[in-house]
Amino acid sequence: MSLRTLLSRLSRLLGVGLAIAGLGAFAAGSVREQEIASCLPQEVATWTDGSDRPAGVAALRLVVRHDGAPAWFGAGQVLAMVDRAAQSWAACGIGVQVQALPPGAAMPDGAVQVLWSDERAAGHFGLANLRHRTLALGPAAFALLNRRNPAHPAQDTLQMVLSHEMGHFFGLMAHSRRCVDVMSYYDNGKGERCFTRDGRVPAGRTDYRALLPTACDIARCRAVNAGALVSLAR
Ligand SMILES: [Zn+2]
Repeated sequence: MSLRTLLSRLSRLLGVGLAIAGLGAFAAGSVREQEIASCLPQEVATWTDGSDRPAGVAALRLVVRHDGAPAWFGAGQVLAMVDRAAQSWAACGIGVQVQALPPGAAMPDGAVQVLWSDERAAGHFGLANLRHRTLALGPAAFALLNRRNPAHPAQDTLQMVLSHEMGHFFGLMAHSRRCVDVMSYYDNGKGERCFTRDGRVPAGRTDYRALLPTACDIARCRAVNAGALVSLAR
């Protein structure tokens, strides 16, 4: 997700969003919970902005570096968030292994490096680079979020960003049209909006998107990796 997208969403939420938040927020919350837990066949839909392909590994190894992280995120806290996202994605059928990388230590072969770098995150909160096997987090984007809205739960944004970018390493290259999916984009930049089960446009003080992969995210991940996992097992 781009910084611009998040900031425009935050300003929307803090402005007109406050008025809407009180209306049906609880009803919408329960639909959201259902959407996170279950996936109807017709709800597996993407913006067709990328081609899903198998992850290509039987197990994904993630190595977490903490140097350059914003001061308000602890090393243990970020490691636990990476682990939470990875363990959730493991429901897809691909093993995961998460470990911290002390400064100066060598990177294990084939591992995905989770690191803080504005250069590699290129202005985003997070950016997955499959070729270089880096999941980069952007300190500047989180610093801006903290300045603009110190009350916003930054750990939720970080958890969501980690889950989303990790999804690309599990083979999900297209973005979901279902608003609640962690792989979703709320719109396609051409005026089309994501969908919810009850047809409401997401409104409220917090992001509608889940913090961890939803039932539909996992269903897509299983579908794209199913054949490859059989052949890897042979
Ligand atoms: Zn993405």
